[in-house]
Amino acid sequence: MACTVFTIANQKGGVGKTTTAVNLAAGLAEKKIPTLLVDLDPQANATSAIGIEKQEGRSLYGPLRGEGTALEMITPTSIERLSLIPSEEDLGALEIELAGTENYLGRLRSVLKPVRDSGRFRAIVIDCPPSMGMLSMNSLSAADHLLIALQCEYMALEGLGQILRNLDRIKNAVNAQLTLGGVVMTMFDMRTNLSRQVVEEVKKHLPDRIFKTVIPRTVRLSEAPSFGKTIFDYDNTSPGSSAYRALAKEVIERFDLAKK
Ligand code: ATP
Ligand code: MG
Repeated sequence: MACTVFTIANQKGGVGKTTTAVNLAAGLAEKKIPTLLVDLDPQANATSAIGIEKQEGRSLYGPLRGEGTALEMITPTSIERLSLIPSEEDLGALEIELAGTENYLGRLRSVLKPVRDSGRFRAIVIDCPPSMGMLSMNSLSAADHLLIALQCEYMALEGLGQILRNLDRIKNAVNAQLTLGGVVMTMFDMRTNLSRQVVEEVKKHLPDRIFKTVIPRTVRLSEAPSFGKTIFDYDNTSPGSSAYRALAKEVIERFDLAKK
């Protein structure tokens, strides 16, 4: 079974990375794609959003320093076909501990290789912290495709430019195969012209990369994580649910995940 690795990155905070990582991963699992969600953010928001308690020693902190394996960290979730590698605060220390060490940008790639090769998963979705530090850069080195969560707000395009420059850097330095897999527009507010304008602008710049599915701003999407639930388990018939289901379908089609 081929395994495709996606990373959801954006140096800007609070733009919907985690909401997208969690609900896209759950959406893929619902559509019969065995999926692994990797929480690479020391804040561990994806871990709690999926209903898993943080636990000392259960994250990629050890494996990224050469202690233990990622396979040992795979944790089942309450969702069929969806597993998680949790995060913990210590992961943040790696920014300093690993800076400048040998192959520091390629560590996550090496650590995830046995997971990719295990044949257990068809998709891996990595949730990144809100910075382009060593953790996010490692995720770009480890991924096949970068998915950008972009909030429908003023100056969104400026942030986009920054991420694309980092994509090029990693492509030239360590991971030539990395592609811009897509841009997910999040927190779309139907009542404002601004939301529509931002979507149109991004469409103009990246017509074949922007996903047709736009994620609406809805209270249900912001409530679900505090119950440790995906939007599908929290409110299966809500607009947020339909949106993430449609996004999962688009991702499966764009990357041919069902056939691989
Ligand atoms: P960070 O950079 O801190 O990791 P993030 O980019 O992962 O943040 P999220 O945590 O997904 O962003 O979202 C930020 C906040 O906005 C959260 O409170 C989340 O519940 C809320 N939120 C995300 N998407 C939506 C949406 N479509 N509608 C309403 N609220 C949303
Ligand atoms: Mg987050």
